[in-house]
Amino acid sequence: MKKPTKKPKKQLKRKSKAKNSSSFVWLAVLFFVMLSLSLLPNESANEVEISYNTYKRLLSDGQIKEASIENDNSFHGELSAPATLINKNGAEFTDRTLFVVYLPADYAEQIKVWDEKNIEYNFEGEKIDWTSWLLGFAPWLLLIGFWIFMIRRMQGSNNGMNNVFSFGKSKAKMFSSKQKKVKFGDVAGCIEAKEELEEVIAYLKSPKKFEKLGGKIPRGVLLVGPPGTGKTLLARAVAGESNVPFFSISGADFVEMFVGVGASRVRDLFEQANKNSPAIIFIDELDAVGRQRGAGLGGGHDEREQTLNQLLVELDGFENSSSVIVMAATNRPDVLDSALLRPGRFDRQVVVDVPDLQGRHDILKIHTKKIKINKKSVKLHDIAKGTPGMVGADLANLVNEAALLASRKRKTTVDNNDFEEAKDKVLMGVQRKSMVLSDAEKKVTAYHEAGHAVVAIFSPEADPVHKVTIIPRGRALGVTMQLPLDEKHGYSKTYILSRLAVMMGGRSAEEIIFNEITTGASNDIERATSIARKMVCEWGMSDAMGPMSFGKKNEEIFLGREIQSHRDYSEQTAQQIDHEVVTIIKDAQKTSHKILTDHIDLLHLMAEQLLEHETIDEADIKLLVAGKKLSKKNNK
Ligand code: ADP
Ligand code: MG
Ligand code: ZN
Repeated sequence: MKKPTKKPKKQLKRKSKAKNSSSFVWLAVLFFVMLSLSLLPNESANEVEISYNTYKRLLSDGQIKEASIENDNSFHGELSAPATLINKNGAEFTDRTLFVVYLPADYAEQIKVWDEKNIEYNFEGEKIDWTSWLLGFAPWLLLIGFWIFMIRRMQGSNNGMNNVFSFGKSKAKMFSSKQKKVKFGDVAGCIEAKEELEEVIAYLKSPKKFEKLGGKIPRGVLLVGPPGTGKTLLARAVAGESNVPFFSISGADFVEMFVGVGASRVRDLFEQANKNSPAIIFIDELDAVGRQRGAGLGGGHDEREQTLNQLLVELDGFENSSSVIVMAATNRPDVLDSALLRPGRFDRQVVVDVPDLQGRHDILKIHTKKIKINKKSVKLHDIAKGTPGMVGADLANLVNEAALLASRKRKTTVDNNDFEEAKDKVLMGVQRKSMVLSDAEKKVTAYHEAGHAVVAIFSPEADPVHKVTIIPRGRALGVTMQLPLDEKHGYSKTYILSRLAVMMGGRSAEEIIFNEITTGASNDIERATSIARKMVCEWGMSDAMGPMSFGKKNEEIFLGREIQSHRDYSEQTAQQIDHEVVTIIKDAQKTSHKILTDHIDLLHLMAEQLLEHETIDEADIKLLVAGKKLSKKNNK
């Protein structure tokens, strides 16, 4: 029994070392061992199992020298001289002395015979049959193995290091020097953020120098800004610039289905960082763990809260002991627990904002480095001008789209047309050329869009019309696109009223021309209504209601959405609000009506030209306003 077991055991060890104990391999090996054990002959390999008749013959012939009888009535005998034995299946074994036979239940009678024949015999307890004992465990082992396997699958880690027993280990990735480094040069714009972070890097490079001066360096830096503005990129740039160990983890990685895992991961993360100090810890999407406590749906003390508490503890704990800096990024600073933001924790907030014109230009420069552009036709500055409100991720996407379009057309370089097309695609949705509109539908759409455009042209402070098209895009039959001249950070009432008038312009044009209205304006009306309601309830722009805010938005923090707004006003006020909203919309409609009837010639001209050319741009509109028709080759 001992011999055969040794071999598989060795095998098992070797395998586990090589493969870093993938539990599944373990299981397979174990199973294999047991299988081979059960198939291999056991210790009594040399015993021939003989029939009872043969035994009786051997007994009466006096050939049996000694025997041991076990509990299971097995009679293990030894012959006084080697003989040829025939086992119970009829096979012949020559030169054997050992045999086994099973005695009848009551063999007391036989003892006398044994004494007679001078057999030395003794009784032994049954030997434990290890093989079957182990085999009995097989189903359980299989079950446990399966469970382990499932858990690993759920953890979704292919990492050998990450076996079942490292639940509580942080999943932080350490940036190695082998990875392609991001430098500050790869991040455009965000000048303030970069300055702030450069200070942090200077500190990490020589912490002693700073400490001598007695300066207190922020321990926690929180990058705050809308999605896609480059927060993650900035953090990676810090890692690339600072040459210290950089532990990066996403807030969501802390959250696991087992209670307490998140907290122990936090502990482990900080332990690791402390060991490697000076070091940087970066927690991306901090809001996943850092949300206001007491807001979960599942009672007050859920797993996420424990994790957050642990994070708070760790943030306090390492304050003076080591040079570890914690960075985090979020686009929802408003939902963060206030304890996270108090001095000593993430007290320094770095705003990474939507890029301005210069910023967009710089970002475009960085991203167009990787593609071949036609330097003569592509003016990055103009593209930057035409993409207000776009963030770094959008611009990166725009450049990529343009490159794809160019390659689809088998061009050698990316030119301005590709960028224009890509911009339209990103801003207005994908063209749906396959959608066939009837002539009547086209005509209505043309007047609808021309209506928007004409109202926009003659409204004070309205954004200039950039493009009008009746090619279906996305879910719309036509699009009128306005682009602001500059970035806007606040809006005047005049601007908003003009905007409402422009939105109503489409419907008004339909009314004036066809004396009929269509469903095409539903989206316009929806947007206009929501703006009008905000004017009354949030911006205090209604004369009748005064500068008051109505209704408190109740953030359902757990879901991260405004799913309800709490009413803090009376039924009567509610009616007044509704009345004001209706008045604002109706006024906007009247305004647009007036503008369109005053400029009905332009409306007709523009609709007609739209039907002919399908798309007209800013330059074309200037011609139309001057009363000129567009030439044929202007077909865009
Ligand atoms: P965030 O983390 O703020 O949501 P990311 O850092 O993930 O945004 O940015 C997404 C991508 O957008 C980056 O990988 C990069 O290609 C591009 N990007 C965003 N901001 C910038 C920027 N300021 N300069 C250069 N590229 C940027
Ligand atoms: Mg990010
Ligand atoms: Zn419309």
